[in-house]
Amino acid sequence: MRQLFFILACMAVLPALSMIARGGGNSTGTGGPAERGAEPGVQRAEFGKTKDGRLVELYALKNRHGMVAKVTTYGATLIELNVPDRNGQVADVVLGWDKLAPYLGEEPYFGATVGRVANRIAKGTFTLNGKTCKLATNNGPNHLHGGLKGFDKVVWQAEVQPSSAGPSVRFTYHSPNGEEGYPGNLTASVTYTLTDQNEVKLDYAATTDAPTPVNLTNHSYFNLAGEGSGTILAHELQIEADSFTPVDDTLIPTGEIKPVKGTPMDFTTVTPIGARIDQVPGAPPGGYDHNYVLRGSKLSLVLAAKVYELKTGRVMEVLTTEPGLQFYSGNFLDGTLKNRNGVPYQKHDGFCLETQHFPDSVNHPGFPSMILTPDRTYRSETIYRFSTRK
Ligand code: BGC
Repeated sequence: MRQLFFILACMAVLPALSMIARGGGNSTGTGGPAERGAEPGVQRAEFGKTKDGRLVELYALKNRHGMVAKVTTYGATLIELNVPDRNGQVADVVLGWDKLAPYLGEEPYFGATVGRVANRIAKGTFTLNGKTCKLATNNGPNHLHGGLKGFDKVVWQAEVQPSSAGPSVRFTYHSPNGEEGYPGNLTASVTYTLTDQNEVKLDYAATTDAPTPVNLTNHSYFNLAGEGSGTILAHELQIEADSFTPVDDTLIPTGEIKPVKGTPMDFTTVTPIGARIDQVPGAPPGGYDHNYVLRGSKLSLVLAAKVYELKTGRVMEVLTTEPGLQFYSGNFLDGTLKNRNGVPYQKHDGFCLETQHFPDSVNHPGFPSMILTPDRTYRSETIYRFSTRK
């Protein structure tokens, strides 16, 4: 019995490793003919060095249908996602670059794994077990996406994983006690699997040696017509949520949970993103930047949202075990950043659907808790599933 188990385990590990070998270990292609011809699997390449000389790697995951996801160890960031349209034409559907340099500068979390706590914590302060924690503030008066040097700006350790679902790489980061003000030594991981069902599957895990808030998410900006092809305002969206958490002028939840019915926040039926975007209340630059309270049972994987792009027929479904979904319509993109071909990224050129616990939960006892204790393992799963229709 034990022998049989060993043989099965080897069968699972070997294909993953041989894929790296087959790839020669140093391809940095961005969808060129060589890469398109390559077999499914994982290819590793060097992606550059951080300013303090740390080596950064790039992993290209290719599935049996020619879909390719490229993820760098810098921020465990998805830099490229090549997806076929209804005619089999492949395009990169996430905003980002094919070089490390732009990720090292000011940029709005393109494709990054965000943590220790995604989204905002009011005034960078919360109280845990009677002790006040003071976090770095990096967004006006508030703490945003883990602080000045969040998980998006650190180098993660990568390990190719045996998986029968498709090519898979796990990224791990050890966040020391006190980093950005957070208590406890935390070990966080995110496993990217590109399944043969054309899904990007994200499995998060974390453990800690002291109670701490944890809220990991992926910050990809999608454009299903292809990145750099204009705004996402015509994309049709449906969100599986009847309510949302309203925010103040600094985008901190007021604590209320309000119904979406009869408001521009309502995506319970399929609606173009741009249809009512000008009526969304809030401070400039306006647009959607709100947490939706997802329907369905928590802790099991449920459909959270579905997006359809008319010209290419691409469809993306988002499934998650998380209770919330941040719908952000790329409001702060202002043309300053340019894509790899020199095309400026303008307001609304991409949208994010970030699965998460509610923003500022640490200061709202009525919201689901994001506190991880040493006796538990944090687990969270999100799937971005791609298909096409007429
Ligand atoms: C937030 C936005 C923020 C953006 C940063 C989103 O998750 O909700 O308010 O500007 O991330 O790029």
